[in-house]
Amino acid sequence: MQRVGIVGGGQLGRMLIQAGIDLDLRIKVLDSAPDSPCAGIAHEFVLGSVREADVIERFAEGVRVLTIELEDVSVEGLERVAAKGIQVSPAPHIVALIQDKGRQRSWYAANGFPSPAYQLWNPGEPIQLPFPLIQKSLRGGYDGKGVQRVVAPAALWPVPSLLEAEVAIAKEISVIVARSFRGEMQAFPAVESVFHPEAHVVEYLQIPADIPAAVQEEAQQIAMDIAEALKVVGLLAVEFFYGTDGKLYVNEASPRPHNTGHVTVKACWVSQFEQHWRALLGLPLGVPYVHSYGGLVNILGPAGGHGHPRLVGLSTLLSIPGVSLHLYGKKRSSPFRKLGHVLVLAPSREELQARLRAVQQAFRIEVETENF
Ligand code: ADP
Repeated sequence: MQRVGIVGGGQLGRMLIQAGIDLDLRIKVLDSAPDSPCAGIAHEFVLGSVREADVIERFAEGVRVLTIELEDVSVEGLERVAAKGIQVSPAPHIVALIQDKGRQRSWYAANGFPSPAYQLWNPGEPIQLPFPLIQKSLRGGYDGKGVQRVVAPAALWPVPSLLEAEVAIAKEISVIVARSFRGEMQAFPAVESVFHPEAHVVEYLQIPADIPAAVQEEAQQIAMDIAEALKVVGLLAVEFFYGTDGKLYVNEASPRPHNTGHVTVKACWVSQFEQHWRALLGLPLGVPYVHSYGGLVNILGPAGGHGHPRLVGLSTLLSIPGVSLHLYGKKRSSPFRKLGHVLVLAPSREELQARLRAVQQAFRIEVETENF
């Protein structure tokens, strides 16, 4: 039994706990919300801010490995823990690089990874890219917020930003790589994401992505090259745009389990969560073989309300073959908040598509509005 710590107590942490229990890990979690998805299921739940260095330093006392389930954490805190000789995976400098979209983009370009044309821009400076372009705030962007498509200079947010040429996107895919403490690597096949047009969150996804085999291999190779160049220990999820020009462009990466990787829990021989622990603990990595066509439908808070969520249509949903339900235990719904997901398995891509459509029709979330 080993003591491990997770900074962040959201749904990714919750699924890391689920996989960690099977390895008999003793799991401690830090989060500032007493009703976060990890509260009540972690062996030890510590209430505190993941953005405060002192809090992280105290939290990590006694753990053998410290990891994260979100990037927006105090890098100084991670550095202090690493300085004490505790294994921190991902390494603090990787988290710092990923936190800043401008630094991250510059790193890909400098290291020869395929990127859209870009510019680091401060308000008032001349713009070198043609419109329309994509503007990204440097920090704190999450699920599409902090990113906008800009058609004319007047619409630019007046903040230091990463500006990117607009890629004509055919598909959005991601590849999750695990690199172990011992340098061993395995890449999951690419997952294809289809985004909700309004909310910019994944509406459904499928594994393997419906792309040519050569593109699949190229994406896996690029993702492994990035993980190797960064010497990542644990998971690295690399998001790509597959352009209508047939080329791959790296969008961004996350050194942690990824929302597009949930489908690996049922569709692959090893899940991203188990793979993360294996990588961190220096165990042999699993072979991420896809044994069924797999899909995911997010369960999102409805657009219209805040309050306690209730899933309607459970029986219809669970009557569909190959379906499993994964709820995150969130007590409050807000518009488009991720409350859970449905995984779908099928023996063919056509059957998967039919089941995904059936799943989308089968359920809805109702919100019991709170009286203030
Ligand atoms: P976030 O980290 O907030 O999810 P992303 O950088 O992934 O932000 O961008 C959100 C979405 O915006 C992407 O999934 C994609 O649909 C679109 N997007 C981002 N960059 C570009 C680009 N250079 N060209 C075209 N679309 C883009």
